[in-house]
Amino acid sequence: MAVVSNANLLSKYLDLDQGEKVQVEYVWIDALGQLRSKTKTVESVPQKASDLPEWNFDGSSTGQAEGHDSDVLMQPVALYNDPFRGGNNKFAICELFNPDGTPHKTNHRHACAKIMSAHADQKPWFGIEQEYMLFDPETSKPYGWPKHGFPEPQGKYYCGVGAGKIFGRDIVEAHYRACLHAGVNISGVNAEVAPGQFEYQVGPCEGIVMGDDLWAARYLLERVSEDFGICVSIHPKPIKGDWNGAGCHTNVSTLAMREEGGLAEIEKAINKMAARHNEHIAVYGEDNDQRLTGRHETGHIDQFSYGVANRGASIRIPRHVGKEGKGYFEDRRPASNIDPYQVTGIIIESIFLPE
Ligand code: ADP
Ligand code: MN
Ligand code: MN
Ligand code: MN
Repeated sequence: MAVVSNANLLSKYLDLDQGEKVQVEYVWIDALGQLRSKTKTVESVPQKASDLPEWNFDGSSTGQAEGHDSDVLMQPVALYNDPFRGGNNKFAICELFNPDGTPHKTNHRHACAKIMSAHADQKPWFGIEQEYMLFDPETSKPYGWPKHGFPEPQGKYYCGVGAGKIFGRDIVEAHYRACLHAGVNISGVNAEVAPGQFEYQVGPCEGIVMGDDLWAARYLLERVSEDFGICVSIHPKPIKGDWNGAGCHTNVSTLAMREEGGLAEIEKAINKMAARHNEHIAVYGEDNDQRLTGRHETGHIDQFSYGVANRGASIRIPRHVGKEGKGYFEDRRPASNIDPYQVTGIIIESIFLPE
């Protein structure tokens, strides 16, 4: 697909003085878990999300309302610097509400925030490893794959360096810097096992910030890739066959897990989560059964397992955590297309269930 924007031409206009006014992109999650956004001019630079006015959109156009009563209310809840417009311009992740003030059924942040504040004294930390695949919209194949046939089998691509191994590093770099500019707590990136597949890590983030920062990072990747004319897929099994699927490994710790003797706390938490394997799997992503086959570094979807340094288990305790006797665990089950609010929410809910 031809890139339809002309960066040089655009920069002439973006360099124009915009006065005191600020452009704020209101970002929300639609009925299919896709991102949507629209822009509002505000009179001064907002310092926090709650400085911004409530707004609305036409929910009948996003699968989120009926035509006869179509207004969905948007409440900005997390504020970031906008790397696309630059300057003092911002974007905000929004929560959605019905006209009567109740949370919209696609608003999973609301329940998550309640769980996080109920356990705020335990300072829950998360780090999510978002895997994704870039796609060429002209060929509908992963970016860099040949028009006919397949690339060489997996082996040389993971953390690869050099032509023929890496396709799309410019997008990865642009996204990384955009996250840093925005104020997203991105902690690293790497090329993944399948060609055209990458990962970025966000975290450690405390409580509700995990979901906010991951959605912000996803928004930034969609926008950066749009600039490059490339599509992003977070489907858990974007290519059938002997190619790795994509996950959102979710790393978790509480205060007690990070302190002396934390390993026992980690094991207690894992046992509680094991007892609710099916409830967890229910919110760990659509089509996750295509990915959690017990192959390609996954545990089988029907069976809970855990182990130190075991990448074929549902939950892995990193080797250094086992050795130090404290730290965090990694839930390897969540798929790349999860809603992080649901996943971090159910993990904390399960961990703190009474004995
Ligand atoms: P992997 O070895 O599984 O590929 P990564 O290095 O990609 O792991 O990701 C590990 C993630 O765990 C990072 O996002 C990091 O911020 C996060 N993390 C590190 N320490 C903790 C902790 N104590 N609690 C929660 N998350 C943590
Ligand atoms: Mn990783
Ligand atoms: Mn990975
Ligand atoms: Mn991992």
